[in-house]
Amino acid sequence: MKLGDFDLADDLLLDLSGPGPRYTSYPTVPEWSETFGASDATAAIERAALRTSEPLSLYVHLPFCSRLCLFCGCTVEITKRRDRVERYLDALEGEFELIARHLGARRDVVQLHWGGGTPTHLDPRQLERVYAMVSRRFRIVAGAEVSLEVHPHVTTFEQVDVLRALGFNRISMGVQDLDPHVQALIHRDQTTDETVRLVEHARRVGFEGVNLDLLYGLPAQNERTFGATLDTIAKLRPDRLAVYGYAHVPWLKEAQRSLEQHGLPTAQERARLFALALSKLGACGYEVIGLDHFALPTDALYRAIDDGRLHRNFMGYTTAPAREMIAFGMSSISDVGGAFFQNERTAAEYEARIARGELPVVRGMQRNADDDLRRAVIQDLMCGMRVDLDELGVRLGRDDLAATFAVEWRELERYRDLGFCTLSARRVDVTPKGRLFLRRMAMVFDAYLRGRTSQTTQRFSRTV
Ligand code: SF4
Repeated sequence: MKLGDFDLADDLLLDLSGPGPRYTSYPTVPEWSETFGASDATAAIERAALRTSEPLSLYVHLPFCSRLCLFCGCTVEITKRRDRVERYLDALEGEFELIARHLGARRDVVQLHWGGGTPTHLDPRQLERVYAMVSRRFRIVAGAEVSLEVHPHVTTFEQVDVLRALGFNRISMGVQDLDPHVQALIHRDQTTDETVRLVEHARRVGFEGVNLDLLYGLPAQNERTFGATLDTIAKLRPDRLAVYGYAHVPWLKEAQRSLEQHGLPTAQERARLFALALSKLGACGYEVIGLDHFALPTDALYRAIDDGRLHRNFMGYTTAPAREMIAFGMSSISDVGGAFFQNERTAAEYEARIARGELPVVRGMQRNADDDLRRAVIQDLMCGMRVDLDELGVRLGRDDLAATFAVEWRELERYRDLGFCTLSARRVDVTPKGRLFLRRMAMVFDAYLRGRTSQTTQRFSRTV
């Protein structure tokens, strides 16, 4: 493998690329319990309600798409029926009402994000209806980040205009790969022209931030074709890019199994594709952020590194304007009142529970002090590419961190010897060579992995 000036033997890469969490949360979802239910979630929300002056982040899950992309890892429902969408929106409205009841006066929102699915599967009137659900119950403060994900193939200029008029200021578009052969294999129709026109229109009507998502590790991708995609995308100058490694988890997403017949890139090939993104986007002025994001130096995500506001959550990397997030819709995950909790993963269950007047929580976890400490360490590593025990100790009021992490520090010596990090008695810094193995280094601090069987660990996607 060639990654900058760095070569790695095949067998070592194979060993290092084994399964592991993406750390969009710590503790990770498999540690959460189904004994955590609606009453625990209500208690967490009511604890959060006491901090009336602190703003919130909100997430809304709109799960609909008209066609399934075979690589999709999201919780989606494929439908073309408008009445089906309306029924879901009725339930969503019910959930807003249930949660708002427990939130007291805590209503300021500094970040609102709609994900899916494809939020623009909704028609303009339905988009307005969802926005009204939020704005009737929450105060979206001036300067808030209001964003959503869209699929350019199904998104019209009219929808973009409506969204902008509602107050959306950031738009994120799925691209994955522009090569027609790759697109055919993954069942995704999306011409380059559609993407270009939508980016240009979003800018024209005043969206401040445009984000594009690419995916490496798909069938038939190679350095030539992915390089061409990167060149075209870089010319569009999106403010941010996410270049995700495709997570192949057919035991969770059955449709992904059909991609295997075309041959998936090996760990070596995946590493080369990511290295190509690093070099091409770096040459075009993009700064790499954390595991898989790229931003122009003018973008808030890049500036957030210096301000210490860069944060990793279920949406990936964000500027973390709020500490707590409440999520609405099937399968969505909240992080509030010191707890994580997730809603029912099927629309039928989600809608049935709302109809019974219950919060549709299916699993969750109340974090303890050790969870919060390790969460802070993993956040520092995944966001800032370093852990400084002195700085962390001041932040958390702890003077025993070197002793607490003595075992982890010894484990990091292996990565230091491979050139993935520099290590002193109280600080670890990930090197550019180590970026690809960030998840693996974060795993060192995951207390729950120590108790796992390898069979359980196998359920995560590969780290490279
Ligand atoms: S458009 Fe997005 S959410 Fe919908 S099926 Fe494709 S990848 Fe999944």
